[in-house]
Amino acid sequence: MDGVSNTVWADILAHVRIHYPDLVRGWFSQLNPARLERGVFEIQAANDSQQRYLSDHCLRPFTEAAQAATGRLVTVRFYQLEYREPPEPQPHAPLAFEEETDHILLSPLYTFEQFVTGPCNRLAHAACVAVGESPGRAYNPLFIHGSVGLGKTHLLQATCHRVREAFPEAQILYLSCESFTNHFIEAVERGAMHTFRYRYRHVDVLVIDDIQFLAARERSQEEFFHTFNTLYQLQKQIILSADCPPTEIPSVEDRLVSRFNWGLVARIDAPCFDTRIAIIRKKAKATGLALPDEVVHFVASCITSNARELEGALLNIHALAAQHDGQVELDLARQALGEEALTQHNPVSIPAILEAVTKHYGVRLADLQSRKRSKSIAFPRQVCMYLARTLTKHSLEEIGGYFGGRDHSTVLHAARSIARLRDEDPQFRNALDTISRSLQ
Ligand code: ADP
Ligand code: MG
Repeated sequence: MDGVSNTVWADILAHVRIHYPDLVRGWFSQLNPARLERGVFEIQAANDSQQRYLSDHCLRPFTEAAQAATGRLVTVRFYQLEYREPPEPQPHAPLAFEEETDHILLSPLYTFEQFVTGPCNRLAHAACVAVGESPGRAYNPLFIHGSVGLGKTHLLQATCHRVREAFPEAQILYLSCESFTNHFIEAVERGAMHTFRYRYRHVDVLVIDDIQFLAARERSQEEFFHTFNTLYQLQKQIILSADCPPTEIPSVEDRLVSRFNWGLVARIDAPCFDTRIAIIRKKAKATGLALPDEVVHFVASCITSNARELEGALLNIHALAAQHDGQVELDLARQALGEEALTQHNPVSIPAILEAVTKHYGVRLADLQSRKRSKSIAFPRQVCMYLARTLTKHSLEEIGGYFGGRDHSTVLHAARSIARLRDEDPQFRNALDTISRSLQ
């Protein structure tokens, strides 16, 4: 094996077993962790159907596991070496989709309890809860859209969990659009359209994730159109997600687009600062990572795009903390996120902080930057130093430079005192949060 030790591989499998028990298959132990090169970890499957299963359902779990086990931002690729002639169709051999859909593949972590709501996703969340509680009655179809990493898959799966709890008898079919088209192609090739139609049209809830992949697949679209009509007429629930609204999916027939708009279309936006804070706290708690508030703030300030990136940042922090007795401090978090993340994501500047703080405390900029030591000046100055430390990438020396050339230990001391006060005094904490928010 090139760069992947047996222990690392065992850790990866254990991680997947613990966090995604529903996904694990007996043959996982026979997979071959072939190599780890230039950040790509290649895992060899024994055959086509294993490879398809892994690519359809296990990419994220294995990536997460590989990142946790190696402490590096690796990506995972599944491949299959030998090409074998496809087997002759056998009259009784089950089709892949028949086997796969005996049990739906849901992550136990993607529940409503684990989902953080905020202004960015409140409508989508409420719609999913309503549909989960009365499928086929609330909104049909339900169409959730938003860009990557904003929680579409999470919400779709949470809805399935909710239906399962409330209606244990309900037939739920949850799958990616890729799987739908693969199943369709397989059914066509093997002359098994009857089985395919029976499978898809006799469900109570059909959930298809990332429906934008239907684009330009004419025959799959045609089939989906009929599936949709049948289920809709029977008042069966249809839930779809996409990375854009129905009208913007390229190369999808108008008749499908218009159907997607029949029910409720809900958009998810990028999380705001408060929602990011709540997501970080929830994810950290779920993975047993103790994060001081200043680190939570720091991560929420640097990573603004989506929840998946936040998770990635936490994984990096976790991995680095594991090498340092599990203690997480601001310096460690900075190191884990790397300069790149800071410069890319961090729009807060020290002048902006100075402006916000002078406004909040009604002090003059010149006083903040002077040598004055009266409490009414020294305190807002310390707040500035704390904010500069948590929200910007500047070094202690650079921050000191903004305040009349104070040295690094003064800045460190200021940031620590403010962090302590913040933990002890809820009122002060609110004030600090208000200033931070105004800077985002
Ligand atoms: P999408 O399908 O939109 O690309 P996912 O549902 O896969 O996004 O979400 C990416 C990751 O971020 C998942 O691990 C998910 O649990 C997490 N996530 C996204 N939004 C939220 C949220 N609002 N609360 C908690 N976790 C979230
Ligand atoms: Mg998704």
